[in-house]
Amino acid sequence: MVRAGLPHPSPFLHRARVRSSTVSVPVPLRILVTDEIDREGVDLLRAVPAFDVDELPTLPAADLLERIDQYDAIVGRSATRVTEALLRRARRLKVVGRAGVGIDNIAIDVATELGIAVINAPAGNTVAVAELFFGAMISLLRHLTRADSSMHAGRWERSELLGTELRGKALGIVGLGRIGGEVAHRAHAFGMDVQAFDPYVGDERFAALRVKRAHTLDALLEAAQILSVHVPLTDETTGMIDAAALARLRSGAIVVNMARGGIVDDDALRAAIDRGHLAGAVLDVFVKEPLTGDHAFRGYDNVVLTPHIGASSAEAQRNVAVDACAAVRDALLNGDLSRSLNGALAGEDAVTLGPALLLARRAATVARALLADRGATAIASLTLKTGDDLTSSAAALLAAAAAGMLEGVVEAERLNLINARSMATARGVVLAHGEGGFAPHSRAIEVRLVAGVHAMRVGGVAALDMTPRLTRIADFHVDVAPRGTLLVLTNYDVPGVIGRVGTTLAEAGVNIAEYHQARLAAGGEALAVISIDGAPPAHVRERLMALRDIRSVTVVKFGEGA
Ligand code: NAD
Repeated sequence: MVRAGLPHPSPFLHRARVRSSTVSVPVPLRILVTDEIDREGVDLLRAVPAFDVDELPTLPAADLLERIDQYDAIVGRSATRVTEALLRRARRLKVVGRAGVGIDNIAIDVATELGIAVINAPAGNTVAVAELFFGAMISLLRHLTRADSSMHAGRWERSELLGTELRGKALGIVGLGRIGGEVAHRAHAFGMDVQAFDPYVGDERFAALRVKRAHTLDALLEAAQILSVHVPLTDETTGMIDAAALARLRSGAIVVNMARGGIVDDDALRAAIDRGHLAGAVLDVFVKEPLTGDHAFRGYDNVVLTPHIGASSAEAQRNVAVDACAAVRDALLNGDLSRSLNGALAGEDAVTLGPALLLARRAATVARALLADRGATAIASLTLKTGDDLTSSAAALLAAAAAGMLEGVVEAERLNLINARSMATARGVVLAHGEGGFAPHSRAIEVRLVAGVHAMRVGGVAALDMTPRLTRIADFHVDVAPRGTLLVLTNYDVPGVIGRVGTTLAEAGVNIAEYHQARLAAGGEALAVISIDGAPPAHVRERLMALRDIRSVTVVKFGEGA
């Protein structure tokens, strides 16, 4: 079936769940622009003869609900709430476009269920942030705000405004992704010495950007005179730059956070500035925004504060508008879903393949966590093997495995089945699909990751209508549902270990959902997989590691996505 009025049949149309009647007379595709977005983006939609574009940026929610069933696409920014009620009423809707990154205003699960593609524009503000970095740095190093306000106040304080240069300074970048890369690129023009720490990025990107790789965060901290974080806010990066990290920085260093509030511990930062260890800081992002009242740094003239304006340039706003509108146009006209956050599987597909996707994703997350605990984080390859009943869905399953591998490494809202493969390959990971050598009609999956000299395989079975099970970790046969949080322990197969582990978890208030113990041979190496409810309390890993005969403990907390 084809949705009403589309000029070209497309893969998108086949995927979308069709709820409108098929008509023979072509009707224009109606697009509603619901927020103020840059003209250039809107003009791009208006230029398509098959489109009929309405701009109603201040439409109250009730009016939007009233008329939403007339539109094939809506495009907006964060102000429009694309709620479940709105989507369920939107009988013609095929695409929701967001001119920006965040999609917390869109009920994406409902959109997926209804076969409505959700498209955002994640890359358009990269340069804006990178340029702000240099603006703020130079402002701090050359006392520009002080110079400006003293001049406006009628003073001439030249001798007090001796600054320092960027040239020759050691810049330490944490996270060599989009923004980190643009900062590095520009830092060379200033004659800076650029190093970065990003264990998830391959050597090729470091070489292409002419950035020296710091193999540990500590090594970067010890080298940096200016430290700038450009990582997503994840479990791993929350509080990453804490008091201990700041103490490792060279005396007189400067810390910059233009990524997300909470990556740098602001209290520790203030203490380090107060005791004179650090020369200053630049902060564009905060744990709680907008900043109200007496924030700790207000009044510090060696701390440049900006109100989360990293992406606030006319060009960035134009870029995201053009980017989102072009992607909406291509999705509507050609069924191009390569930019869709949810487009790989819409409607019924998601129901039948859902368990297998979840298994592929979680198997990869487990494999990566186990490798990371062995110190192997730069993944070189991911190979997915599937049983023959899943071969036809290999592409989607490979995407799910790539997403699982990247979970916690890239921003969750950017990671999806459509973009996971390209994100993985951009990081230098070679993706492959192979026949599994499983029994006929098998719905088994195995993910194998290689990082340097280390390799890890994790597999399972996703039978139809059943919760998927993990059945293999490395050489061990296990049987556990990959849900909530998994603790994976290796130990010596001696009496008493299970009891000690159980007691330790009970004392920590942890409720065990499943406990599977496996061994290769009596008295040899053993592995336990423990599924627990909720997140483990702090220090549970350390307490387990302290137990006799335990060799390793890996905590795997799964994200929400399948
Ligand atoms: P990106 O996904 O392109 O890059 C992030 C990089 O961080 C990746 O290369 C990843 O490998 C690396 N990384 C992840 N976890 C790490 C860890 N534990 N240690 C070291 N490296 C790690 O993202 P981006 O587009 O460059 O955005 C970077 C940050 O900037 C994000 O937090 C984003 O939200 C923020 N941002 C802020 C503004 C603003 O207005 N201030 C605007 C856009 C983006």
